[in-house]
Amino acid sequence: EIPARTALHMFSAAVESAPDGPAIRYLGGTLDYREVDELSDGVAAYLTENGFGKGDRLAIYLQNVPQFVLALLGTWKAGGVVVPLNPMYRDELSHILTDAGVTAIVCSENAWADRVAERASAAGVRIALTASELDIQTSGDPRVFGGVTRVRAEGVPDLLEVARARAGAGVPDPGLVPDDVALVSYTSGTSGVPKGATNTHRNLTVNSSILRLYESKPAGSPIFALAPLFHITGMVCQLLTAIDLASPLILAYRFDAGVVLDALERERPVFMVGPSTAYMALMAHPDFSGERFASLEAVMSGGAPLPPAIVERFRELTGKYIRNGYGLTETSAPCVVVPPNLEAPVDPSSGTLAIGLPLPSAVIRIVGEDGHDLDPLEVGEIAVDGPMVVPAYWNEPDATAQSLPGGRLLTGDVGFMDAQGWVYVVDRKKDMINASGFKVWPREVEDVLYRHPAVREAAVVGEPDSYRGETVAAFVSLRPGQTVETDDLVEYCRERLASYKAPRRVEIVDELPKTASGKILRREMRRSTPA
Ligand code: ATP
Repeated sequence: EIPARTALHMFSAAVESAPDGPAIRYLGGTLDYREVDELSDGVAAYLTENGFGKGDRLAIYLQNVPQFVLALLGTWKAGGVVVPLNPMYRDELSHILTDAGVTAIVCSENAWADRVAERASAAGVRIALTASELDIQTSGDPRVFGGVTRVRAEGVPDLLEVARARAGAGVPDPGLVPDDVALVSYTSGTSGVPKGATNTHRNLTVNSSILRLYESKPAGSPIFALAPLFHITGMVCQLLTAIDLASPLILAYRFDAGVVLDALERERPVFMVGPSTAYMALMAHPDFSGERFASLEAVMSGGAPLPPAIVERFRELTGKYIRNGYGLTETSAPCVVVPPNLEAPVDPSSGTLAIGLPLPSAVIRIVGEDGHDLDPLEVGEIAVDGPMVVPAYWNEPDATAQSLPGGRLLTGDVGFMDAQGWVYVVDRKKDMINASGFKVWPREVEDVLYRHPAVREAAVVGEPDSYRGETVAAFVSLRPGQTVETDDLVEYCRERLASYKAPRRVEIVDELPKTASGKILRREMRRSTPA
């Protein structure tokens, strides 16, 4: 039985058990748990002085820097709700700041000067704090910052300065309870406009505690933050799991394969989770070597499809098995995971790799069009019940009624379960291609393309076609030093798939468009007009 706690209760327990233990490692610098506690008190004191209180929303628009953690804890200590924002957002920023009724923001100095100031003031944000990427660092790696010059944001206080000035101020208990909303976290927008999921403290702590019990790592085990903290996978599986374990969280600004490879060697983490595209990028880097992954006891992929060929290639090169995890923003990160010491089976009839078994607290059902439970191996929509499912979307009663009827999440993903309870994702419901009436699931075709030795990344989409309705098109990027004819790739698919599934057109591109959390954006490659 997992106790219902707020994330602040979880954090206090870590401070009590390991006050001098490292909490954050960033480019060689360290903050211990006591320092994080005192500095986040300072942030809370500043916010409270400025009229920010219970239930107010603060947006964090930062990469993986220590100030992210201080702003998050500081907001909760002031009784507020955090809105984590993707730092690649531009005009999306205006929409979310207004939609979530944000009154305070923390962003980098450069972002403030470049794109936040005007949008924030137009959206009614009253309190702004900036954070320098270069603080809390003893040895810098210039590649991380790509020659960014520091721009002081005139008149906007620096988060660390205000926190240090009030550190250990002792803030009154905000009186949060587990069912209070902790985050309004916007979905990745892979399929459309992002929606704000209201993750409660209970949603978050239940999931991170289960993950901790599941992984059964000793307290203090270093966790590497491969995923961005603004995404729910990074927030729960990395940050909150580290706090629950009183472990150091190793931050590396934003994903850069070379920097990650260096940090793995230096910091020797035992646990890491990231999108499958991060593993592909690591394997394509010239500094890649299996030796760098030697310290890792758990290597996990989450938040996006994991092609079986990537699991095989990674194991050949490192000797490590990538464990898949499936979850949504609405399930506060994973609800289905490949347990430690097990390997996901492949369904013999479809060749699909399982995404895992439901976490002990999650109930997964496969439902038909009429909402009834389907039998093993029948394909339908994946539905999730459990304490990790958010109660609602922010400000979206219609979307809440549609996707969260009676508290159950209808994921929009199509899949099936086998008789042993392993769960398989076929694809996103919305991404199905209808080619002359034949159903084609892009992921199946992508999995075949990933097997081709020249292919680094693949995305398959439907293209409008005046005769067939839709045809299958594939976009691929190649592994370093590889060349291939597009006709050969079409032929490769035809040899392995029913002919209506094989792409009629393949385009080779340098890089596939992705969300900042590393998901390949199929929708960016879709053409809107019939060819
Ligand atoms: P939006 O809802 O705005 O389109 P999004 O669905 O990408 O964005 P997230 O909550 O970040 O927002 O992603 C959840 C989705 O990611 C799932 O519904 C599923 O389609 C996909 N996904 C997550 N983990 C896996 C996995 N292990 N295998 C396959 N797909 C996965």
